Amino acid sequence: MSDERFSAEQVERYQAHLALPDIGHTGQQRLLDTSVLLVGVGGLGCSAAQYLTAAGVGKLGLLDDDSVDLSNLQRQILFSVDDLNGKKARVAAEALSGLNPDTELVSIVDRLTATNAVGLIKGWDLVIDGSDNFATRYVVNDACVLAGTTLVTGSIYQFEGQITVVCPPEGPCYRCIFPAPPAEQAPCHAAGVLASLPGVVGTILATEALKLAIGAESSLVGRLLLVDMLDTSFRSVHVTRDVECALCGNKPSISHPTAVALCRDETD
Ligand SMILES: [Zn+2]
Repeated sequence: MSDERFSAEQVERYQAHLALPDIGHTGQQRLLDTSVLLVGVGGLGCSAAQYLTAAGVGKLGLLDDDSVDLSNLQRQILFSVDDLNGKKARVAAEALSGLNPDTELVSIVDRLTATNAVGLIKGWDLVIDGSDNFATRYVVNDACVLAGTTLVTGSIYQFEGQITVVCPPEGPCYRCIFPAPPAEQAPCHAAGVLASLPGVVGTILATEALKLAIGAESSLVGRLLLVDMLDTSFRSVHVTRDVECALCGNKPSISHPTAVALCRDETD
């Protein structure tokens, strides 16, 4: 295939993708045509956003209503001391703005809730959930399943991370895997988290999104990847759709995003 659809600059910029048989010109064009919404611009979002932008995703939404705090700088690598108290969604877009002119960066200073989730997710090709609280995770899952939008979701805790891809009816949704949230969840700064862990997990989130964007199958549909950086291990468990699931089961009772009762709200 010729290079006609790409500028000389793009051919040079994406040389390493164009050389990959699984991406090439067709795959790179798919990346340029794909929009990805990042829910949460914390540790996971900061690392995922850098690779999505560098890779040439056409449009990247950065959704977060939180402001940069000094305690974030240990792991949220798009921010510096000059950004303290600035809105993460705006600061991240500014930090990424010099990376790739092909990526349209959209800052959304808002908090995703059961009420606004459908509207915020509408129109995006893929959603990555990098929030660090269960309340948001269930709502994002509900909105994506109801909209038929594929969701790449991840979480971190101390030295450990979990990643899966939700795209029912193929494979389970988040509610199938975790029918109920835990009673309490401490935020990262209280429970503790290794500085580089969100980099590891956020990069895997971006990787799955890039694979989905080029039309490759995600091997994390129906699989929950478990990362433990204390013993540097990766393992995965098979997870299946629950026919009784209130959201994606055979007789669903959830018809709009539904908040679960708990706890702290903080993206990380
Ligand atoms: Zn389900």
